[in-house]
Amino acid sequence: MEEIKHTVPEMKAFMDKMSGIYDIVRLVNASECYTITMENDDSISYGNNCFCTWERNGRCKNCSSYRAHVTGSRQEKTETFNGKQYRIMSVPATLILNDGTPCSCVIELITIIAEQNAAPDAPNTAKSAYEHARSSALDSSIVSEKDMLTQLDSKEVFFRKVRQELMDNPDDVRYIIYADIDDFKLVNDLFGRIQGNEILLKTAEYIQDVCAKEHLCCRMAGDIFAFSLKKEDYDESALERVVEKISLLIQNTAYPLKIRFGIYEIVSPEMTVSFMCDCAKLALKSIKGDNVRHIAWYNNELVEQKKYEQGIVGAFDQALANREFQIYLQPQIDSETVLQGAEVLVRWLDPEKGLIPPVAFIGIFEKTGLISQLDKNVWEQAAETLKKWQGTNKSHLYLSINISAKDFYYLDVYKTLTEIVEKYQIDPHKLRLEITESVLMSDVEKLLALTRRLHQYGFFIEIDDFGKGYSSLAMLKDIDVDVLKIDMEFLRETEHEEKSRVILGSIINMSKQLGIAVITEGVETKNQMELLQDLGCNMFQGFYFAKPMPVPEFERKYF
Ligand code: C2E
Ligand code: CA
Ligand code: CA
Repeated sequence: MEEIKHTVPEMKAFMDKMSGIYDIVRLVNASECYTITMENDDSISYGNNCFCTWERNGRCKNCSSYRAHVTGSRQEKTETFNGKQYRIMSVPATLILNDGTPCSCVIELITIIAEQNAAPDAPNTAKSAYEHARSSALDSSIVSEKDMLTQLDSKEVFFRKVRQELMDNPDDVRYIIYADIDDFKLVNDLFGRIQGNEILLKTAEYIQDVCAKEHLCCRMAGDIFAFSLKKEDYDESALERVVEKISLLIQNTAYPLKIRFGIYEIVSPEMTVSFMCDCAKLALKSIKGDNVRHIAWYNNELVEQKKYEQGIVGAFDQALANREFQIYLQPQIDSETVLQGAEVLVRWLDPEKGLIPPVAFIGIFEKTGLISQLDKNVWEQAAETLKKWQGTNKSHLYLSINISAKDFYYLDVYKTLTEIVEKYQIDPHKLRLEITESVLMSDVEKLLALTRRLHQYGFFIEIDDFGKGYSSLAMLKDIDVDVLKIDMEFLRETEHEEKSRVILGSIINMSKQLGIAVITEGVETKNQMELLQDLGCNMFQGFYFAKPMPVPEFERKYF
């Protein structure tokens, strides 16, 4: 059966059809053990008569619908209940609510296969249904009630308790708050698991304090907590105090411990609690890396952003196949204004939206890993262009390609690049690799070794955006760098122009002494070029000379 994704009217029609085949057809919210009713006005509401869970804090052992929900695949089970034997087929599905919100649910297609003690030695036939469900729930191996470390409720119990609150008090306005500690993995790496666990225990304690009387809180996983408060009990300063207390848990180190909160106000109680947590998580993600903000609220802009991102990601395969990603070239010029080569910059030429600049999609593709497919394609286009120039009077020109930090995770960069060079029979010297310093800071040993191999193979290595991040000058002694690329942004952004100039001059001097060439990019005016020449730089790239342009235009202009 293909994945089922239906609006409410479509789901109604589908279930109607199925009820001609099966004895019972039901829609359930399997993570919270409730049945879902689709109302006449196409809204939905929750019942609480899920098949065999009669106790709120438990879940049936081996519930096929829960397994279907978790695995995303169809599951089957035979269940004896009240003397009847049922064959339950659980099909995971997505119900698209009227406002477009997706709601994960499971369609239960149930056949009654036998009446009265059909399974002769079924252990539960003698017991009441309640006892059966209770004992199943108690020895359930699927769901544990408490988080072992913090003794907070497990995620599943939290979901069900919040659902209960929403049903019992439909007029209350509630928040779901998602909390996450920045780079917690680093804490474990730096201080060990024992201290890591102590920090998690303290965090749980602080969060419980904020939750006050209701105790609706859980540890979702690792360093991620979720809790729910009534709007009237919410106090921003209480969250600020948690931020403050957590930052004090590790002292005397350069590494500040930071917790962040994402808050979702429950406006559609019919959404699953798990989806509400996703909304709060989305809010939290929007301030990842922000040095100032610790608390973020879910809003429609985030939804729009998310939709935009999904659209971009969804269009990727087709766009790649249609060759909508095209390389543009921006010239690199020496102090005699002679063209030496060009940087390869990608553009998305969408037949409907027109030209989309890389800032609109590179970050999104980096997040999703698609960047490696895109870059591979861009690198091939660059190699193809170099191949085309062979044997012309422009065969000496080089092309610089960008390598994203994420490419090193998703690709075998060495294999990919060397295969490209062999496929197109080009000189690796003509393909320069722009790597940002952040790449080299992340997994130093491994990446230094990799850049060394790439360099030995014959590629030129350029450090892109040098000076923008946490430059480590010391790094330059360990890596075979051919070129440092400095962005003029570095000068423009500062109020201390004179100081920046001194720094720039020193970088240029030092590079010369180390035998490393320097290119300055982002050169926009004659003044800037003259200043850079005075400081000893003799390679430039920027709008002052030319903007990035399509390959045919580049060829017309320079060949
Ligand atoms: P980048 O690698 O630092 O590229 C330089 C950016 O500065 C380019 O922006 C270029 O058009 C722009 N630029 C050039 N001269 C000037 C100038 O005089 N003034 C100003 N203000 N800007 C100038 P673009 O093409 O929009 O690319 C933005 C970023 O997107 C690039 O920054 C790079 O990080 C990324 N990118 C572009 N193409 C690719 C690609 O094929 N793969 C990967 N991984 N990243 C790419
Ligand atoms: Ca670059
Ligand atoms: Ca750059």
